[in-house]
Amino acid sequence: MKRVALLGATGSIGRQAIEIVEAHPQLELCAAASGSTPLDDVDAPLKQVGGDLADLLEGAQPDVVLNAVVGFAGVHATLWALEHGVDLALANKESLVAAGELALAARERGRGRILPVDSEHSALFQCLEGRGTEQIDTLVLTGSGGPFRGHTRAGLEDVTPEQALAHPTWRMGPKITVDSATLANKGLEVIEAHFLFGVEYERIEVAIQPTSIVHSLVRFRDGASLAHLGYPDMRVPISYALTYPERAATPLPPLDLTSLTLEFSPPDTDTFPMLALARAAGHEGGSAPCVYNAANEVAVAAFLERRLSFLAIADVVEAALEAADGAPARDLRDLVEADAAARGVAERGLQPA
Ligand code: NAD
Ligand code: MG
Repeated sequence: MKRVALLGATGSIGRQAIEIVEAHPQLELCAAASGSTPLDDVDAPLKQVGGDLADLLEGAQPDVVLNAVVGFAGVHATLWALEHGVDLALANKESLVAAGELALAARERGRGRILPVDSEHSALFQCLEGRGTEQIDTLVLTGSGGPFRGHTRAGLEDVTPEQALAHPTWRMGPKITVDSATLANKGLEVIEAHFLFGVEYERIEVAIQPTSIVHSLVRFRDGASLAHLGYPDMRVPISYALTYPERAATPLPPLDLTSLTLEFSPPDTDTFPMLALARAAGHEGGSAPCVYNAANEVAVAAFLERRLSFLAIADVVEAALEAADGAPARDLRDLVEADAAARGVAERGLQPA
């Protein structure tokens, strides 16, 4: 039996994870947590709404932590798993983006494993099969382009939360759906890939593939490229991470090749500056990725509350990056401080929509 601690059990990933756990006789939930939503319909011996995730994990002693919390709030759980050498099935990309070097140091000490749940990174992980970075030419992260693919900046001025929440290919929680519309999600994923696979930013590309069938690909130094294909359904990467290396069956239909259209184009970084800002934050390193993430969380929340326009999300993040010194966090306390400071700057920078 594999004991799974599920953090963010009431969310989009969390609910799909429960379905996977229930369908697999070798998986059992040993703990479940949510931020504020009740867990009445979740069947687990330990349940926690709010509160300290590290405390919960300490008591649960899981074999694998599925971190499906949204935002920086997941950072303690990510560091706990890596520090304790417990497998980390990671959906909560924000924690790896923000904690970066600290997370890698914790993994080094604890010898924990990260099994990516983000579909692109799960795809890359499977294409790479643990090969050394010297064999890699480039990583190519694919993205659908979101609901505003093909739009101009002028066309995005009056975008409403409802329009931003209508994603063409994936059904997800509200924060990541808005991130997909601004391309901040792809920006976070570039930084996530950098830390997961140890590849420098110059060798991480983004390609738009509107139907979300190609989940990412790796170009190797010998001229071979390996891609990962499948219908856009998060149950696949969730199941892969929870049953690794077994690749258990899921209820998905086999891929019908005759119905596919596979077209690729470069991202429009002029219309979607959040991608370029993420690269800049990644290059700067230190706490800059943490600042990018924190300011984005504040700006997205404000956009959803109609306190900020869609295009101003990037302005808030850019201003927060400019205001921060980017000094590296020496420990979790430093990181929490950098996160809080960036949130403060972002809050003060909010303009009425
Ligand atoms: P969601 O908004 O649907 O769910 C978030 C969950 O986190 C909820 O259960 C909520 O209660 C919980 N939560 C929030 N704050 C918490 C806190 N302080 N402590 C404990 N729990 C807390 O979000 P989602 O779409 O499921 O996304 C979760 C994570 O997975 C995000 O990091 C997202 O980027 C990533 N992800 C999601 C998808 C997807 O298809 N939904 C795909 C790839 C990556
Ligand atoms: Mg993704």
